[in-house]
Amino acid sequence: MEQIGGSTYGRTFGVFNVVKELIFSVSLFDWFADRRKGQFVGKVSQETDESDGLWGKCSECSQVVYRKDLIANASVCSNCGHHNRIYSEERIGLIADPGTFKIIDRELSPTDPLGFKDRRAYADRLRESQANTGMKDGVVTGICKVESIPLALAVMDFRFMGGSMGSVVGEKITRLIERATSQKLPLLIVCASGGARMQEGMLSLMQMAKISGALERHREAELLYMPLLTHPTTGGVTASFAMLGDLILAEPKALIGFAGRRVIEQTLREKLPENFQTAEYLLEHGFVDTIVPRTQLKKTLGKLLRLHGNNPKGSR
Ligand SMILES: [Zn+2]
Repeated sequence: MEQIGGSTYGRTFGVFNVVKELIFSVSLFDWFADRRKGQFVGKVSQETDESDGLWGKCSECSQVVYRKDLIANASVCSNCGHHNRIYSEERIGLIADPGTFKIIDRELSPTDPLGFKDRRAYADRLRESQANTGMKDGVVTGICKVESIPLALAVMDFRFMGGSMGSVVGEKITRLIERATSQKLPLLIVCASGGARMQEGMLSLMQMAKISGALERHREAELLYMPLLTHPTTGGVTASFAMLGDLILAEPKALIGFAGRRVIEQTLREKLPENFQTAEYLLEHGFVDTIVPRTQLKKTLGKLLRLHGNNPKGSR
């Protein structure tokens, strides 16, 4: 087993040190590491073809597409309708009226309270994700307008450590919700996440309760909250704010679930249906209210906001 951590933490995090020692006194991590060797957990079917150049290939139907046309169509394949994965900048561009998105808490940056190290140090993983994305952590939050209606908007970014929810992601989302409550704004959270960020241990899990509490106060103020579940929305995000919406929206064919299919199959000793954990399956079973094709997203949001009494003046 790898040596994890040392004895140099400050008193503040002594309790975490103890917990960590307990958790890692068995080689559980090694077991996971072996199972995942050579795999990237977040590698799933909605990967965009990342190669540079004018032309790309749809990862679903292999149709060669002109990249500009693909982007003009919200990165939805015009041949098969496949929704290629997009990231926070493109998503905000598709939702917010041009020039209206005002980012908040941009500089909130994660720390490494547990001094966590698996095959690589958490601090190194953070630095690498920050360098690759230009973001401090995996969510962008701000206030914008949609068809002239003010909206509090959070967009999770799967590039940043699989959209995992650490303390900063939780804190930024909570602050946005509190701002939405005090300014009487409707709220949209675009979810894309592999779940809680294991490198932050229980601090990551606590975000679920913190965000849920803030959402409850937003609800008590009779304000509209809509999560948009995109591919993939799993783990602690599904187990908290992704499922707490007044209206739960999803993108076509998005993978939405808590635990992975294999874990459930092994626990239940049952074969699950092919479309299990897709947006369509969840719509059929009442967990999702509507599936919105990305090309219709903005128009649909505008309609839903107006239907719930929001207007360009913002107050209801
Ligand atoms: Zn296609």
